[in-house]
Amino acid sequence: MHHPDLCIAGAGIIGLSLALELHDRGYPVTVFDQGAPLAESSTAAAGMLAAHDPDNPPELLPLASLSLSLYSNFLDRIHTLSGIRVPFQTHATLQSVPPGTCTAESELTREDLAHLLPALTPSDHRFLLLDEQSVDPRQLAPALLAAVRATNIDLQPHTRVLSTYSIDDAVEITTPNGTIHTAQFINCAGAWAAATSRLSNISVAPRKGQMFSVVLPPSLPLHLVIRTPGIYIVPRTAGPATGRAIIGATVEDIGFDKTVYPANIDRLRTLAATLLPGIANASQLEAWSGLRPATSDGLPLLGVLPTQPNHFIATGHYRNGILLAPATARVMAEFILGEEPSVDLSPFSPARASTQVASP
Ligand SMILES: Cc1cc2nc3c(=O)[nH]c(=O)nc-3n(C[C@H](O)[C@H](O)[C@H](O)COP(=O)(O)OP(=O)(O)OC[C@H]3O[C@@H](n4cnc5c(N)ncnc54)[C@H](O)[C@@H]3O)c2cc1C
Repeated sequence: MHHPDLCIAGAGIIGLSLALELHDRGYPVTVFDQGAPLAESSTAAAGMLAAHDPDNPPELLPLASLSLSLYSNFLDRIHTLSGIRVPFQTHATLQSVPPGTCTAESELTREDLAHLLPALTPSDHRFLLLDEQSVDPRQLAPALLAAVRATNIDLQPHTRVLSTYSIDDAVEITTPNGTIHTAQFINCAGAWAAATSRLSNISVAPRKGQMFSVVLPPSLPLHLVIRTPGIYIVPRTAGPATGRAIIGATVEDIGFDKTVYPANIDRLRTLAATLLPGIANASQLEAWSGLRPATSDGLPLLGVLPTQPNHFIATGHYRNGILLAPATARVMAEFILGEEPSVDLSPFSPARASTQVASP
């Protein structure tokens, strides 16, 4: 059977996971990236699979739960194609919660905390222990890329989608190499999605996150994630980064600037040291930043553009794109191919009022 071709803009975790899913269903896929693949938000991330973070919008839970259920198979598929096994780094998260938001039975006592993590200074925080995993995006990225390269997905780095134009039952795409026609176009351009599809009426914007990594001192063995609304500490326990911790992150609305400011990093370190005093003097390895693709209601945009039946979008994953990649790939492939999506996509509709930019 001859399948129509599909073109994706953006070789981040969302674009490449969707490309693999469509490829596995027998469709020819081309992926363009304006730079190197997986060089933006998808490798800046901490890698927490934080489906039960109380700061997530509640509407995200069905998609997040589906993604968690798919994660092991997603990593297995990458392993089969690439030969690279991406391990889970952690299996538990100490999540701080405001008073009154959890039952007395589920909240950890001071004794529980002292037993679990003697180095922790809980100060005023109340904690729950979540059954949550994390991965290292810097391990996932090369494995995912090798998996894509092991298929006949046509990956075209350093090829920016300059414009798109819907005509009849096709989309015309212009890149610096010329103009092509595709049956279906999917915008997975992350924080750059609005410009890529010329979406003047839909709001997707970069939300910057700065963070840094340290070598954990021998006195501070850490095997679980610690997360409060202001700070998270994510240890690496497997692979070349074992013994490090990632500490993040700022949340800033300042456009596409990725400058890292030492004052911001120092503030993150001070906050982290209120929980784990040993962080105060831990040697810093790196500091970096990334641009999360954010929408005004914190929910992704998953679907088709209101007036362009062959022009799809999958972006706006904000703080959860590493978590949500397998489910996004699944539901977008189902939606594009005319199947019933595994999760109700109406909360994520690109036509929803909350993502519309108000007319002047
Ligand atoms: C500091 C920080 C910490 C984070 N921590 C976590 C976490 O712990 N867990 C979690 O689940 N998520 C986390 N995230 C969020 C996660 O990183 C993002 O949601 C996810 O990476 C978004 O993936 P993406 O593929 O949409 O975007 P990106 O990875 O940014 O990829 C978009 C790609 O599109 C390309 N592109 C843009 N415009 C064009 C164009 N016109 N033509 C062709 N290509 C184009 C870009 O070059 C880029 O490669 C974090 C993010 C940051 C910044």
